[in-house]
Amino acid sequence: MSNFWFGEGLRKGRKTERFPHAPPEEPPLWPSVLEGSTDTFCPTDAIKDGKWDSGKCISCRLCMPEFRPTGKQDTFLIKKTEPALKKSFYLYKLDTGACGACNIELGTIFDPQYDANRLNIFITSSPRHADAIVVMGIQTEGMKEALKNAYEAMPEPKLIISLGTCAISGGILGDSPMSRDEYHIEIAGCPPSPYTILEAIAKARGE
Ligand code: SF4
Ligand code: SF4
Repeated sequence: MSNFWFGEGLRKGRKTERFPHAPPEEPPLWPSVLEGSTDTFCPTDAIKDGKWDSGKCISCRLCMPEFRPTGKQDTFLIKKTEPALKKSFYLYKLDTGACGACNIELGTIFDPQYDANRLNIFITSSPRHADAIVVMGIQTEGMKEALKNAYEAMPEPKLIISLGTCAISGGILGDSPMSRDEYHIEIAGCPPSPYTILEAIAKARGE
């Protein structure tokens, strides 16, 4: 049986995405940048005065056809970069109240399809070894102290990344764990696509 899979691997060839040298091979329509200009109903107020706020969108599609997905994957906002972290970038994941999907998509960037390790991006289980904290989910009472303690334990320089609409704005489920002004990087989506996550994390290092 193992010979079969070995043969399949040789037959299919390299399957890792060419990022950062090429766009995603099969970009998903959802989530992606939405385009439109007319005011329409949105359950999270992501559409106001004809403008779309990626950090509030839960990809429910109720705004179609007034707003439509473009397939563009850059649903992120980089407010601060740390070029010193180019050669080694360790992320500490903190789930303050996520449904699980943001966690899964973050994990996917370390799979063979994206292989974040080849870009010097790693996961650590200790905030003391982390360069960035990745916050996912809404604020839950029990995680308030954990977020504060983890952030204080991290050495400088450090970045705060909000992953997913819950962490950025609370989405439809509750309140976000921090204010949007406090995040250095916003990665929007419910959940964001792995390609979007990888691109935003790479850009956090000034690339
Ligand atoms: S997809 Fe849903 S949440 Fe996003 S802008 Fe449209 S209506 Fe609002
Ligand atoms: S942003 Fe969406 S996918 Fe991520 S934790 Fe919230 S509900 Fe789940």
